[in-house]
Amino acid sequence: VLSSRLRRLVDAGILEKRRYRDHPPRHEYFLTEKGLDLWPVLVALLHWGDKHLDWPDGAPIVIVHKGCGGTVDDRRICERCGKPLEVREATTRHGAGAPAESRKAA
Ligand SMILES: [Zn+2]
Repeated sequence: VLSSRLRRLVDAGILEKRRYRDHPPRHEYFLTEKGLDLWPVLVALLHWGDKHLDWPDGAPIVIVHKGCGGTVDDRRICERCGKPLEVREATTRHGAGAPAESRKAA
């Protein structure tokens, strides 16, 4: 399921797939310019999900400020240091509600 979803994002020009190891073959995915422009949309969607979907164990993904580790609010402002964040200043980590397998892979 994950690989077909990733392929769709690559086909749509949102992600770019790059090989970083040949044996065994391993790839990583980068956001393209088109993907980076989705930053406000992605933040809004994640916060929408946290508000309206019932995560039994908590949010599966949390957006955090790389600089201070604070969480990012729905207006893309760091809740710890108050900085308005661009996409390159933020990262995601698995929240309490992430599936066990994806937490292990992280
Ligand atoms: Zn911060």
